Amino acid sequence: MPSTMATIHLPADDEHQVYVTVSAIVAGTLFLPHEEVFQDCIGESESDDTPEGTRVPTFAFLIQHPKEGKLLFDLGLRKNGEGYPPSVMEDAFPTFKPECNEDIVDIIAKAESPIKPQDINFVIYSHLHFDHVGDLTPFSRATLVMGQESEIFIRNPYPDDPRSSYNALPAGQRVCLLDFTADASPARGIPHARLIKPIGSFERAIDLFGDGSLYLIDAPGHMSGHVAALARIASDAFVLLAADTCHSRQCYVPSSSGSVREISSLNHQQWDIAKVTVTKLTEMNHMANVVVVLAHEADRLQEKCKEDTMPLFPQPLNVWASQQLGKKFRK
Ligand SMILES: [Zn+2]
Repeated sequence: MPSTMATIHLPADDEHQVYVTVSAIVAGTLFLPHEEVFQDCIGESESDDTPEGTRVPTFAFLIQHPKEGKLLFDLGLRKNGEGYPPSVMEDAFPTFKPECNEDIVDIIAKAESPIKPQDINFVIYSHLHFDHVGDLTPFSRATLVMGQESEIFIRNPYPDDPRSSYNALPAGQRVCLLDFTADASPARGIPHARLIKPIGSFERAIDLFGDGSLYLIDAPGHMSGHVAALARIASDAFVLLAADTCHSRQCYVPSSSGSVREISSLNHQQWDIAKVTVTKLTEMNHMANVVVVLAHEADRLQEKCKEDTMPLFPQPLNVWASQQLGKKFRK
């Protein structure tokens, strides 16, 4: 690492530290054209060609907290592409070719101890793109948690505005907006939430339950309101769910020559800001106690060594993540 980099750290475990259990769920897949991922691939394909790309998973995560119960970080895709606003189907579907025969509700119901949507206390949206928001309707008991800036997208939603790319929230939906500028009650309605500045390489986060188990990090650039989640899974061990901060491991893990590939300007609302956020992610990934997982990190399911492959729900990923940390600088 460059010697100029300041030492960064994450909050230490406290005396009665609480941990969360995290499970990854493949809530559908997308085709990601390379030019949507890497800046160096823009303009590579002829205009009438189908662009080159890869089919990638859309990860959502079940997070279980000993006192606060079950949370979901993102819901993935809607089943069979049904229920999206027409503009999503016209603008995004031809490029991203989403597939989802089993949605998150189906997947959590299939476990040996089935989980019902009514068992979920919180749904956290990393951001409001169609491949992350799923169908909120069945989660009728859940409080929706999202970045304050996400709210602007749903002020005039579909179908009120027939051209909107965002569905209206279910009637009566409880919403908690994350305000990274509020020193007092940054997550209104969640009583012990508190602002943390800085957190590792990032400027600010909200310790959602005030117990250091789950931090929601302001991770701007991809889309307004975009947040990542940092889950404390064991003593001095964290998983950073980085959502769409970038879309490939090659953008945050330096190659043997020490460089990362630049993220695509096609796929980030504020490219310059997104690039800074990716730099912060790279720094977090260099920490000995952090495992990063992107929402579309296909490599997590296709590691060279089978034991490095991230387990999926109903298996928690805690043990796997601790093992990854143990190997981190020995690869
Ligand atoms: Zn996405």
